[in-house]
Amino acid sequence: MRVAIVGGGITGMSVADTLAARGISCTIYEQDSVVGGLAGSFRVNGTYLEKFYHHLFTSDTAMVEVIQRLGLGDKFHWLPTNNSYYAGRLYRLSTPLDLLKFTRVSLIDRIRLGMLYLRTRFVNDWHPLEEITARDWLVQMAGKNVYHAVWEPLLRSKFGRYADEVAAVWMWNKLKLRGSSRGSKQEERLGYLEGGFGQAIDAWEQDLRARGVEFKLSTPVSRIVAENGTAVGVLANDELQRYDRVFATVAPELLLQMAPDLPAEYRGRLEQIKYLANVCLVMSLDRSLSGTYWMNIGDPEIPFTGVIEHTNMQRKELYGGAHVVYISRYLDHEDPLYQMSAEEILDQYMPYLQRMFRGFQRDWVKQTWAWRERYTQPLIGLRYSSLKPSFRTPLKGLWFSSMAQVYPEDRGMNYAVVYGRRAAEEMLAELPQAGPEGSAA
Ligand SMILES: Cc1cc2nc3c(=O)[nH]c(=O)nc-3n(C[C@H](O)[C@H](O)[C@H](O)COP(=O)(O)OP(=O)(O)OC[C@H]3O[C@@H](n4cnc5c(N)ncnc54)[C@H](O)[C@@H]3O)c2cc1C
Repeated sequence: MRVAIVGGGITGMSVADTLAARGISCTIYEQDSVVGGLAGSFRVNGTYLEKFYHHLFTSDTAMVEVIQRLGLGDKFHWLPTNNSYYAGRLYRLSTPLDLLKFTRVSLIDRIRLGMLYLRTRFVNDWHPLEEITARDWLVQMAGKNVYHAVWEPLLRSKFGRYADEVAAVWMWNKLKLRGSSRGSKQEERLGYLEGGFGQAIDAWEQDLRARGVEFKLSTPVSRIVAENGTAVGVLANDELQRYDRVFATVAPELLLQMAPDLPAEYRGRLEQIKYLANVCLVMSLDRSLSGTYWMNIGDPEIPFTGVIEHTNMQRKELYGGAHVVYISRYLDHEDPLYQMSAEEILDQYMPYLQRMFRGFQRDWVKQTWAWRERYTQPLIGLRYSSLKPSFRTPLKGLWFSSMAQVYPEDRGMNYAVVYGRRAAEEMLAELPQAGPEGSAA
């Protein structure tokens, strides 16, 4: 049995890991020259740094287990971090006490906001939340004032023109996740691998190679080839390479481009799954911008979604003394900013950074990088479970696991591990039982 896996992100690696453990021969096709996908890294003064900010929540146990299994557990730490909310000025929003001091809304609304956080923890059945938008649910739970003052700007900043389509399930998950990643004193704790998650991805690649997984890097798959309604292989470098099964781990839109033989009804469903793009401007600075790790932007005039000061979570000495800051923006891939260079993006952001951080000067910035990806966040609208694709596709022999299947949870490295494994196990369960010679057909 030979399996081609299209995509060398965390999902593709998790599929390979699960199949290799059952003695199945796998080849990962990755268009990039390195594996890791959205969780990929570059180096700042010699140390790995994720192109897009990454951390883990305390519930992300599957990814933590991978890190431990790879022998990197000693470098993985749960760290106290802090949050704030920028809306004309900076409000700390890390602990219940900060919430009480959140003067952006009245005292009664602060209590409503606190109750919202508390009540989300006790939602056990998420199904009713598929039927209501995040907007309507938040208004119901905490009132219009809280919605307009706090949540609406955040939803608009992340989802732009799609903000009113987002289902309550997505919002509930975000609140629950952040609310539960806390220590005994209610302080937020996030997990990070000192020296970068890139080390885990490298070690995982080496581990998989040692277990017989083949990696074809810089090798985009242009087509998943079918004969008589069955996937028989992939077209890469203009050459058909035959396999018994094909496992796609790319975004639905890419799968549709690669697999023209998928039936019309299925194509119609996948076409409805929208994704946002993201551009992250990474800056290396000679000083810190603020005392906050994670800053949500609730000011509709500011053209970015969040400011994440990585070196308020990790020591700057790891990066040669540089202060490292991400400025993240989710956007439509047709937005002109999606095409801009790092310096052009910084030009656009300068007036806002100067407004937010007193004295901010361009010469504080020593180096910039801009990372962009087209498919970064599926848009979870109402009744998404009726749209969510199954792992098995209607094309025999073609399997599919991507961020679009991570639901009701929200995408993340942990769920890429979990869903990749689940998809591979489902494929394994459908194989004919191995005969006395031990080979699954
Ligand atoms: C801004 C941002 C912040 C994030 N923060 C966090 C965080 O803090 N914590 C966390 O856990 N997660 C975070 N994530 C999410 C996390 O990175 C993803 O959920 C996870 O990496 C998804 O992995 P994947 O393998 O499913 O998809 P991808 O990483 O998208 O992998 C798909 C792979 O397929 C490849 N590919 C595409 N087309 C082809 C082709 N034709 N042929 C061959 N290969 C192809 C791509 O190059 C890519 O490597 C963040 C993501 C973003 C964008």
